[in-house]
Amino acid sequence: MGISSRCGGRKFFCFAIVLLSSISTFAASGPTVALSVDASEAPRKIFHAQLRIPAKPGPLTLYYPKWIPGEHGPTGPITDLTGLKFTASGKTLKWHRDLLDGFTFHVEVPAGENEVTANLDYVSPVAFEPGYSSGVSATEKLYVVNWNTLLLYPAGYGSDQLTYSASLRLPAGWKFGTSLHVANQAGTDIHFAPVSLTMLVDGPVIAGEYLKVVPLTAAGENPPAELDLAADSAAALDAPEEVWEHHRNLVKQAGILFGARHYSDYHFLLTLSDHVAHFGLEHHESNDSRIDERSLIEEDGRKLAAGLLPHEYVHSWNGKYRRPADLATPDYEQPMQTDLLWVYEGLTSYLGDVLAARSGERTPALSRDGWAQIAADLDHRSGRTWRDLQDTADGVPSMQSAPRAWEDYRRPLDYYDEDVLTWLWADVIIRQQTKGAKSLDDFCKLFYGAPSGPPMVKPYTFDDVVNALNQVTPYDWRGFWKERLSNHGPGAPLGGVEGSGWKLVYDENPSELDRAQDRDGKTINAHYSVGLLAGSDGVIKDTVEGMIAAKAGIGPGMKIVAVNGRRVSADIWRDAIQAAKKSPSPIELIVENTDYFRVVKLDYHGGEKYPHLVRDEAKPDLLTEIYRAK
Ligand SMILES: [Zn+2]
Repeated sequence: MGISSRCGGRKFFCFAIVLLSSISTFAASGPTVALSVDASEAPRKIFHAQLRIPAKPGPLTLYYPKWIPGEHGPTGPITDLTGLKFTASGKTLKWHRDLLDGFTFHVEVPAGENEVTANLDYVSPVAFEPGYSSGVSATEKLYVVNWNTLLLYPAGYGSDQLTYSASLRLPAGWKFGTSLHVANQAGTDIHFAPVSLTMLVDGPVIAGEYLKVVPLTAAGENPPAELDLAADSAAALDAPEEVWEHHRNLVKQAGILFGARHYSDYHFLLTLSDHVAHFGLEHHESNDSRIDERSLIEEDGRKLAAGLLPHEYVHSWNGKYRRPADLATPDYEQPMQTDLLWVYEGLTSYLGDVLAARSGERTPALSRDGWAQIAADLDHRSGRTWRDLQDTADGVPSMQSAPRAWEDYRRPLDYYDEDVLTWLWADVIIRQQTKGAKSLDDFCKLFYGAPSGPPMVKPYTFDDVVNALNQVTPYDWRGFWKERLSNHGPGAPLGGVEGSGWKLVYDENPSELDRAQDRDGKTINAHYSVGLLAGSDGVIKDTVEGMIAAKAGIGPGMKIVAVNGRRVSADIWRDAIQAAKKSPSPIELIVENTDYFRVVKLDYHGGEKYPHLVRDEAKPDLLTEIYRAK
């Protein structure tokens, strides 16, 4: 999983099931369910599904998918499952929901019946709500089909054991892209070749009126890869040739990095819309990634979107093929345990950024800007005082819907960003220990590499990661990770940045990335100066515990109304910060909070602060080597 702005204890019995099921390449041996989805009303955001489920007389238990792969939590959109009705031979059957689990349904199958028909409607959210594949997925002109939102499956089988024979009806004139194989098609009625439930959920379909397919591998190259884009306008698809070239480079550079591919046919499914949820979600043979409509046709948009597709693509190796054993659950009902997300997501974030640089999607300078921001965020992260990195991974299933307010103190997702710095550190250690002979690239080939083949899951544990690192170069890797995962600072873990020949510094000039992020120049970015982030309307999104703004009594949700007596704007804020450098007087704010107004004085005279990485000439430049195309 990735975010487009930038996706406990073990139970032994669970683990045993995982090992047995994981050897397979998803060859099903259970019943076959026929699933027909009617998405012809997609612009209304209501979708109709019918399932024909083989059954025996007596009690039948059915599940709605709850723990969605890649989302790291029980995020199945059960609130949007509606219109549920069961019949057998045309007669309506009674059903009831399980009292202990709202995703479980019980039906009594009458004597003499061997099949139950289930009808259901999935009503997609119509406005932005937190969520990944359960978020807004349809507009007037496009729809991303996530099959898990549209089906039930019978209890008693793993998702590898069930076969689904799926069909899809799209609005007239719409085209589509997917990693699923098409058995036959008549107009916008598509029948897909039967697959295991695992691979159906792994195969979302992108569909729309404006759809473009860009091959990313040469004709005849095996396995093939392509980019399937759906947009809210034809104009949004008209990106410059360099965009497609960067994605061809990405496929090539990933092949060089890992030395093998674990898919038969890969599809980047990219949605360009301002009206759908924005995120990236990984699958073995595709990714469902969604960004602003004009992301590819505007230069700033390309800078901001860079990194998302490399991240999701890396997941085909790290997260799907190799997966933490306690995340590799046999169905969508078993809880997932997230303690190794610092490998699953953290290393993917690192490698995604590296491949964004190696493919040319990001220049080295823009790549450094991104890592300077990560380093600066963590250098100020107040949540590091109470919560270690391991807990950010362990706690995520319960924190899926955490709001933006208090994010700095809550630090809900630092196993992404902090682990970029930590895996950089590991890469630097390997390069130093082997005097440049080896790097983390060698770990990638060893852990994620040959043999190539179709999708399968090869689970791993903490010990497997440590052992593989030790095969690359002997080092106290166990001690290194134990320390990094339990460290509380102070300050960001900068061993990798500094060891790679660069230093984190702050000055008053926004970086190229800062400028792209603040395209309209209306954000108040005082994160590293007084510890405050606010929108153009003065509403405070977050404050940093322990920094000047928080100490002065300001918190998220309050609104800055005026700065030094004048109505707030980003320009007025900047003027005040500049003026305070030469004045002993504090900056005076009028702050609104729950209908009350208050004067707050910020005794700050340090000017604006933006992070950068600058070269440390005393050390070899490993970072430039890491970013270089192979
Ligand atoms: Zn991810």
